[in-house]
Amino acid sequence: MPMSKELEARIPEVGAAAGAASAAVNIEDNPLLSDERLPPFDRIRSEHVAPAVRQVLGRLEVEVQRLEEPGAPDWAHTVEPLERITDRLHRTWGTVLHLMAVSNSEELRRSHEAVQGEVVGFSVRLRQSQALYEKLAAMKAGPGWSDLAEAARRIVDHLLLEAELGGVALAESPRARIGEIQAELARASTRFSNNVLDATKAYALLVEDPADIEGMPETAVELASQSAAAAGHESTVESGPWRFTLDLPSVRPLLEHCPSRELRERIYRAWITRAASGEQDNAPLIEQILRLRAEEAELLGYPTYAELSLATKMAPSVEAVEGLLEELREASAETAAAELGALGEHARACGSDHAGELAHWDIAFWAERLREERYSLSDEELRPYFPFDRVLEGLFALAGRLFDVTITAADTEAATWHEDVRYFRVADETGRTIADFFLDPYSRPGEKRGGAWIQDAIGRSRLFAAPGEDARLPSAYLVCNQTPPVGGKPSLMTFDEVRTLFHEFGHSLQHMLTRVDYGMASGIEGVEWDAVEVASQFMENWCYDRRTLSGLAAHWETGEPLPEQLFDKLLAARTYRAGSQTLRQVHFALTDLELHHRYRSGGEETAFDVDARVARRTAVLPRLPEDRTLCSFAHIFAGGYAAGYYSYKWAEVLSADVFSAFEEAGLDDAEAVTETGRRFRETFLADGGGRHPMDVFRDFRGREPLTDALLRHSGLAK
Ligand code: ZN
Repeated sequence: MPMSKELEARIPEVGAAAGAASAAVNIEDNPLLSDERLPPFDRIRSEHVAPAVRQVLGRLEVEVQRLEEPGAPDWAHTVEPLERITDRLHRTWGTVLHLMAVSNSEELRRSHEAVQGEVVGFSVRLRQSQALYEKLAAMKAGPGWSDLAEAARRIVDHLLLEAELGGVALAESPRARIGEIQAELARASTRFSNNVLDATKAYALLVEDPADIEGMPETAVELASQSAAAAGHESTVESGPWRFTLDLPSVRPLLEHCPSRELRERIYRAWITRAASGEQDNAPLIEQILRLRAEEAELLGYPTYAELSLATKMAPSVEAVEGLLEELREASAETAAAELGALGEHARACGSDHAGELAHWDIAFWAERLREERYSLSDEELRPYFPFDRVLEGLFALAGRLFDVTITAADTEAATWHEDVRYFRVADETGRTIADFFLDPYSRPGEKRGGAWIQDAIGRSRLFAAPGEDARLPSAYLVCNQTPPVGGKPSLMTFDEVRTLFHEFGHSLQHMLTRVDYGMASGIEGVEWDAVEVASQFMENWCYDRRTLSGLAAHWETGEPLPEQLFDKLLAARTYRAGSQTLRQVHFALTDLELHHRYRSGGEETAFDVDARVARRTAVLPRLPEDRTLCSFAHIFAGGYAAGYYSYKWAEVLSADVFSAFEEAGLDDAEAVTETGRRFRETFLADGGGRHPMDVFRDFRGREPLTDALLRHSGLAK
């Protein structure tokens, strides 16, 4: 069924449901409808979700219809009402999504599920509104266009583009076809990822000889014994049998630590042919997905799907991206070959019988042996030097040094969703509060999603300014999953956890230090997605800066600073196998582009031929002819990374280049660091989505991005 029909059918449903709900519940008391600046977390319960969401949707539907009526297509009558609509929905639904991630429960999940479809329906209907599209287009063609601020024009351009990519601007028949294609693509992607899951589950390698697991990490062996027991074997951790699967936490330790070459080969071969045969064969789906995407691009007026994908991104063209990837390839190929040579030598020195010719299933194994010998840096050794409070102090001091902001705890001033959550205010150089944020640091299995992220609670916006204010101030949720305090000790962080905190804090800074006054382009809103990771990855660089690190590392009991030799190991470990890793990422990115730009389904080459052709330039060790890893490349066939895998490297190049401006100014020159920090604040942090990221980059760096800094940081510079 064409998507537009589905949407039309949903509108009256939303209204009717909302009417019914608002009659039954006393809506005034619903904290999810509160107009307070921050959600009253102490009062929100699961039962508030459905009535609040339906009330909001009902009210907003009326506003959307009013917005669609003929009238003056100017900023105040078109974009401002639209911002009010999306902001209200975000304040209610965004809070629900946030709680789903940090305070999950059976009841909350049920309430969320009950209304999720209605929210999605409403959002799609809003994005695809023909009447609204025409108003925006008329605005752009009208006389007032050039008087609008750059950020305002960008908002309108983004809204138009988003609607166009849904087919709004097309005639009825191609528009219907776009709907069909997108629905088919959604189904094909789901099948693709289900096949990967099923194929992963279907495979198992049962190990019975204790000699085969010698030297393997305890957690991996426990997991394998558990898995064997779950599959009906009588297993103990000590005597087995042990069952290994193609799940990453299972297959990875086997490839890295299993002394049996034969077992490693078996699981490696299974790994590279996952979802590539039988009922779970993804090969036909790959063809179908690529064909549909090419058709979609053509209907929407783009020569290829890669060009369609880049239309919403920072990177200017496929050629520019390929040029950058090629530079990285050239710079890393030799080092990668040397790294492979070093593994072979190490294997030989260890008396291995296959030292002369390492096979694919030997690489991870010997890479781990060499890493252990060279760096022997364990998380446990570093932890005592990174007590959470001290790390925060150091991080906030860095923010002060770079951006002239003061961060103060204000825990009693805001309601939170958990007692461990901290609340902070951010003040500018005059002492005026300009933003605030919540920090939810510790893991809480069962109720909190894994990983780390930030979400905007509210964005900076002039439209919602309180009396006497120029704009409503932004607020962020910063969520990590670090080790909680145990046994009377404070939370002692691993170095990875410290880096993660810096990363997320970088995102938060971009959200909080924005100067853009329009909610749809302030902070992280409206930043092109291949540019979104620049501020966050930039902050990670400071974890390797000696002065910054010494400001946040001190033994939690003795106060002793991080020993010099540990710091040196940290620095050295950063570039371990950087050549091989870069080359691998370049391979994925180039294959992704090639498939979405030059490949024609049904032509002489298959998608696997393309993958193999790219590999001839990116693989040091010739790949096996039966390699079908493309069949499990879910990022591009089932995730949002189609013709976008490059963005990992793209953002890394940019953030390293940004950091190198500080290196050039002199990391030990306090004044120069401060000056460069202010410039970063005035550009990347202040402009957010209000200016094209390439212009922002040029404003800061005075030139186009270069790969030199990333290569140098990775130890790959010539
Ligand atoms: Zn990030």
